[in-house]
Amino acid sequence: MFILDSKYIYFFMSGINLTFSIGSGYNDSDFVSFLEKCDFKEHETTDEHQKWVFRGLDLIIIRFDKKILIQGKEHDKSLKFIRELWDQFQEKLVSDPKNAEKLAKLFKIAHNKLFCMKCKSPSMLIKGEIKELDIAFKMECGHINDMQPPLFMLTSRILPDINILISGNLSRCIDLGYFKGFEVVIPDFIMGALDYLGDSKKAGATNEIGRLQELAEINKITVFKCVDGIEMPDKNEFDHVEDDKILEIANLTNSILLTGDMVLKGKASLEKRPTIYIHPEDSKKIKIVHETRT
Ligand SMILES: [Zn+2]
Repeated sequence: MFILDSKYIYFFMSGINLTFSIGSGYNDSDFVSFLEKCDFKEHETTDEHQKWVFRGLDLIIIRFDKKILIQGKEHDKSLKFIRELWDQFQEKLVSDPKNAEKLAKLFKIAHNKLFCMKCKSPSMLIKGEIKELDIAFKMECGHINDMQPPLFMLTSRILPDINILISGNLSRCIDLGYFKGFEVVIPDFIMGALDYLGDSKKAGATNEIGRLQELAEINKITVFKCVDGIEMPDKNEFDHVEDDKILEIANLTNSILLTGDMVLKGKASLEKRPTIYIHPEDSKKIKIVHETRT
């Protein structure tokens, strides 16, 4: 993405890019003094639609008539600033649903957090409290949830099946910038199944699990080594039950299934298990894309 203005050209692949609409309680001088307090400095506007421009912490913040645009680099300080800004102005700025997803991603919200649709904050807890002759279900942000379905929950846990591990494509996707911050489930059922694979497949899957662990060590992902309690079938029985067991683990761990197997994709859809499917033809090309781009 490019942001152009007279003095600087920023280029970044995964930066901060948020747009907020000006809400009814918004007060421009409060906002500007907040920016000044955070050591932002005013810069010249570059076109007549801009009301003001502030820069600081590798961010540029531009006020338009009805919107405020925030763009720049993602690092601890800029994220901390956006968190503070959001704490202070979430009642006065209107975030669109696209932002909500971006905010959740920027703050790397943990798996299974509940999501307040009023202010887009995550909650781990909803408290039911008696208010006179009614019950109020309060989220951690203070908003009342009407307790009508569905509740929004954030998920970032995936379960790759054995063939995905053999292909090595999950770590390639992570190198390419996808699945960053995800929790990858490696159940002991899969560890046990490695011994049933032929030599080259076993080497492929073992290598990939090692790669995923390396990526976890540098905080690109987390790895959840899960004790699934599933009894290992005999080798001759394994092929018949593999799909069902993988699906069972996906259900038990509430993971998104990652597969390149059309039959398993079909079964998952019957069981209403969210699935990410990569067609075998595309799977082959991931290796080429990876080699070309890294
Ligand atoms: Zn809320």
